[in-house]
Amino acid sequence: MSIFENCRCLIVGAGIWGSVLAERLASVAGIEVLVIDRRGHSGGNCHSAADPETGIECHRYGTHIFHTKRREVWDYVNAFTGFNTYRHKVLTEYKGKVYPMPIGLETINSYYGLKLKPFEAEAFIRSEAEKEGIVEARNLEEKAVSLIGRPLYEAFIKGYTQKQWNKHPTELPAAIITRLPVRTNYNFDYFDDPWQGMPLAGYHGLFDAMLKNDKISLRLGLDYKDIRQALPADCRVFYSGAIDEFFDYSLGALEWRSLRFEEEVKQVADFQGCAVMNQAEAELPYTRTHEYRHLHPERAYSDKATVIVREYPQDYSGNAERYYPVNTPGNQALLAQYQELAAAKAPGVTFGGRLGSYRYLDMDMAIHEALTLFASVMEQGGI
Ligand code: UDP
Repeated sequence: MSIFENCRCLIVGAGIWGSVLAERLASVAGIEVLVIDRRGHSGGNCHSAADPETGIECHRYGTHIFHTKRREVWDYVNAFTGFNTYRHKVLTEYKGKVYPMPIGLETINSYYGLKLKPFEAEAFIRSEAEKEGIVEARNLEEKAVSLIGRPLYEAFIKGYTQKQWNKHPTELPAAIITRLPVRTNYNFDYFDDPWQGMPLAGYHGLFDAMLKNDKISLRLGLDYKDIRQALPADCRVFYSGAIDEFFDYSLGALEWRSLRFEEEVKQVADFQGCAVMNQAEAELPYTRTHEYRHLHPERAYSDKATVIVREYPQDYSGNAERYYPVNTPGNQALLAQYQELAAAKAPGVTFGGRLGSYRYLDMDMAIHEALTLFASVMEQGGI
């Protein structure tokens, strides 16, 4: 029997965007959905699993913190699991010292050896930034320097960014750095969002709950390209794989940054005292060290051992995973060509998610976009 028997709707990719769409179509609209993913698990890059030796839940593609400013997204995820009250705090190592990240009052004072008050720090940072006389920032370096001045940029941003992207910060868009707030107070939170936390059931639990529905058929380890020949003409497709791969790279390949992780079990209760420690220096080949036990203080993990994972950025090649789209003008132009091709040659296919739209999407944005798409599909009469 074909996997497409009675299939009116195929979702390619069981990451956030695909899973939310599947869940809504199945549970609200009662539509039978086939979800495929070529990996052996759901959850995309949010996937987590217990480390077999320590039982600590490890995020297999780097730390994913749930945070959102959108009430409807927070309510949506809370329907599947509760969340703990974890608020992300990141530190960064530079030349033998540890500083809070993003840059705030403690980092400014500690780096310059000062004891400024918030209003003084604001004026100080402004005068540091004005030294460069940048009127309109044209790239990441100019943007960072115009926000925090050159010394803090050179210490905490330049080396990290160069490692992360393998490009000089003058070749990168300014928008990347505006993801990080700059503060002149002692707020150590990484994110400003009102709703933050980690799923009590783990990311695997969250995705299992979303996809557990009689109307959803989930087939893991199945690649779209191996079944596309058999796809019925009237089957609606929602595709969250890479858009260039969908068209067999006929116009060329979009550039991605990838990551490699090295895991180590340490026989101590706590290795670094926080979930994420950034390594700002260009000379160290990794950008950050994850210690996942800190994400779930509510859990009774053993105090005999902990898991640490070092993150090494690398170029994307066919047998790695895609992580970050490289938003240069050349890649944006190629994306536009693929989108034109999609409109002309694949009108029955809706592209979305991080890979399908070639955007640096936070988890809550992927959920928001899937919820919005579901609403518009229903408004247009459903499937
Ligand atoms: N960044 C940096 N130093 C840091 C952390 C971040 O220079 O210690 C820059 C870097 O260019 C990075 C960007 O800020 O790509 C966005 O950081 P974020 O933590 O949002 O990246 P993500 O967690 O998505 O990898």
